[in-house]
Amino acid sequence: MIIRNGRVVTEDAVIRADILIRGETIAAVGCDIPLPPDCTVIDAAGMFVFPGGIDVHTHMNLDTGVAVASDDFYTGTVAAACGGTTTIVDHIGFGPAGCRLDHQIERYHGMADGMAVIDYGFHGVIQHVDDGVLADMGRLANEGITSYKVYLTYGFKIDDGGLFRVLEKANETGVLIAVHPENDGVITHFRACFKAQGKLAPKYHALSRPAECEAEAVNRAILLARMAGDAPLYIVHTSSAIALSCIMAARERGQRRIFAETCPQYLLLDENRYDLGEDSLKYIMCPPLRTGADNEVLWNALPQHLDTVATDHCPFMFATQKMPAKDDFTRCPSGVPGVEERMALLFSEGVQKNRITLRRFTDLTSTNPAKLFGMYPRKGVIRPGSDADLVIIDPDKQVTIRQKNLHSRVDYSVYEGLETQGWPVYTINRGEVIVKKGEFIGKKGRGVFIQRKRGVYG
Ligand SMILES: [Zn+2]
Repeated sequence: MIIRNGRVVTEDAVIRADILIRGETIAAVGCDIPLPPDCTVIDAAGMFVFPGGIDVHTHMNLDTGVAVASDDFYTGTVAAACGGTTTIVDHIGFGPAGCRLDHQIERYHGMADGMAVIDYGFHGVIQHVDDGVLADMGRLANEGITSYKVYLTYGFKIDDGGLFRVLEKANETGVLIAVHPENDGVITHFRACFKAQGKLAPKYHALSRPAECEAEAVNRAILLARMAGDAPLYIVHTSSAIALSCIMAARERGQRRIFAETCPQYLLLDENRYDLGEDSLKYIMCPPLRTGADNEVLWNALPQHLDTVATDHCPFMFATQKMPAKDDFTRCPSGVPGVEERMALLFSEGVQKNRITLRRFTDLTSTNPAKLFGMYPRKGVIRPGSDADLVIIDPDKQVTIRQKNLHSRVDYSVYEGLETQGWPVYTINRGEVIVKKGEFIGKKGRGVFIQRKRGVYG
């Protein structure tokens, strides 16, 4: 297969070039590649060709104990593919109390195998800390699980001593710890107060998790990482200016191995969504939406200070899973869909509005995720020898986002009605066209588990 006449975003430049694909990999990138006989040709004139999107923060099938996320590894990855994403790294959900790390990893292999239509990996989840768990971290890293998530809030939160031991072990074994940073003590207190006062409308969800809660936990995790010998640390879903300021301060102090992710919802949506009555339930997520000023600060940080844009895709049905909590936000499952919209949103709102360059778009959506999570240069880059994972975006295609045109198994989009300029039209994963002119044509279960290597932490 050959992709001709596209504007190709490589590691160093944006060039007009052809891409020759042989089997599952890129064979050549350049001008005037002679056309092999019987070669499929995709004409990408007027379009941009990027490395396939890598979304390192999804929650397919997540079981929160109250509700199960409505996308499984089939529907969720079809949506991802239609949005130009060729690889996800899914965050494994909690298992039974006291379970070993293998327990959930095996369970997730069972859920993704035969279902996923794009390539996938898993972040392990650490829900308690003991010698066995720490030993497993090192062992499993050799089986392709080279990153682990810890939560500083929720039922299986890790305390400071536990987090410190995990960071020390991660530093020793060369794996990356992803942290969900929110101060549990303050949130628990606010929730109890609001409950006692009958303040249970959706907006109290946001008021119970102020930005300072996030920043405090970010700062704490950063300093623990520093004490653990400058352990690499990945901050998920950075949502606020104050949390970002802690990350930037750490780097200025010389802590270079702190990495930060944000998500489209924290760039494009703000706390006014909690003034919409029952509709506000659609926007219940953790961390909650912040202010317009926070949105702006995060946009301004994208060119330099944020490393990745992922989605935290975790959809729940509005009608049947969120609405039952209309009189009590504490019963509402937390999470929003977004895996399909990510690339188009960042292209339209970022590249087209001159907030980020084409190169930066590629770093945020593909190259940096591949580097940090041990898939580079197999993925995240257009060069000979790499997997032929590509997305072709037509910059002239105008799409108004409508849930009914998206592919997630969910009954709403938080971006409903948003007009985008530019949309993925072809998605290619390991040399196979799986989305053609916006239509999914791949087979269920064709995605493969990626045995990730250790990441590149600078
Ligand atoms: Zn998440």
